[in-house]
Amino acid sequence: MTTLADHINAVELIDHHVHGFWTGDGDQVRFHNALNEADTEPLAEPDAVFDSQLGFAVRTHCAPVLGLPAHSAPQDYWERRNRMGEAEVTEKLLRRCGVTDWIVDTGFADGVAGPDEVARASGGRAHEVVRLEQVAEQAAAASGSYGQAFTEILSARAEHAVGTKSILAYRGGFEGDLSEPNAHEVAEAAARWRDEGGKRLTDRTLLRFGLHQGLRLGKPLQIHVGFGDRDLDLHRANPLLLLDFLRSSGDTPITLLHCYPFEREAGYLAQAFDNVFVDVGLSVNHLGARSPSVIARLLELAPFRKILYSSDAFGPAELHFLGARLWRIGMTRVLTGFVESGEWSRRDAVRVVDLIAHRNARRIYPQLN
Ligand SMILES: [Zn+2]
Repeated sequence: MTTLADHINAVELIDHHVHGFWTGDGDQVRFHNALNEADTEPLAEPDAVFDSQLGFAVRTHCAPVLGLPAHSAPQDYWERRNRMGEAEVTEKLLRRCGVTDWIVDTGFADGVAGPDEVARASGGRAHEVVRLEQVAEQAAAASGSYGQAFTEILSARAEHAVGTKSILAYRGGFEGDLSEPNAHEVAEAAARWRDEGGKRLTDRTLLRFGLHQGLRLGKPLQIHVGFGDRDLDLHRANPLLLLDFLRSSGDTPITLLHCYPFEREAGYLAQAFDNVFVDVGLSVNHLGARSPSVIARLLELAPFRKILYSSDAFGPAELHFLGARLWRIGMTRVLTGFVESGEWSRRDAVRVVDLIAHRNARRIYPQLN
């Protein structure tokens, strides 16, 4: 009989929210900055980034994949990775993720791979998620009615995409009215925004319009929740501020991404609303050796059919790899505890692993099948 740990180690994952890996070589500064999520300025003390849970996790879990001993010194790790080059490092790490399907957010794509390259480098399948704020910026650049341009661009792009994504958290946050604006309000706001140049959408009316167009499309709508870089107003990225929006969101699946430090609030919402799903991608990577704690908290109130796996990796393929590796370690630690204490049966634990690893994602993203 395979053990629970063996099952978790081998289970196929669907990474339902991820970005591309770097497509070209870069310097050490780029690598260091990529290991700090929140600081958007060049780091004052760059190598200090390794004195963090994520830095330790890179040395522990990624070093052996590149042929170094676990816990190698940061400088040795950098030199090995630099000598190998981005393409080789990427392929080595990506092929060890055990991910069959990657759902790629193509919204912020400078210097990173698109879905086709992700599929090629990993040997898996890749699918696209369309960012609503990017569709808005394309609609602002189009001629004629903004509302019509938006729906046309969205439906054309969504023909191949498996879902949409909103970064409202970065554009003012969740606080305030998120109801659907009427056509007149949209036209007025769009005229104003176009006059100002139509770049980087922060207009509330148009952000609300985009969200509701995403809902109307019926494909899963991913929403960035919780921590990110310091441009984001973290106190306005608490998912409880989405309550009114969720109450009127109908049947379209809504996935709350990352969530830290609001994973308990998100877990509650996943219980309260049939169409709400939740993951702790990004958080798992940054919590490293403490990531079993966030996985355990997600397994408090969130129904098991509402939890998804993601890495939210962006840039260095270490992040794609660690998302999967740390999730497997954390799930093993937490679920083994439940089974050994007699609270869960091994059979139930295996079933829950499969739900979170891939079955829930397959259910809400039918295009994957
Ligand atoms: Zn993301």
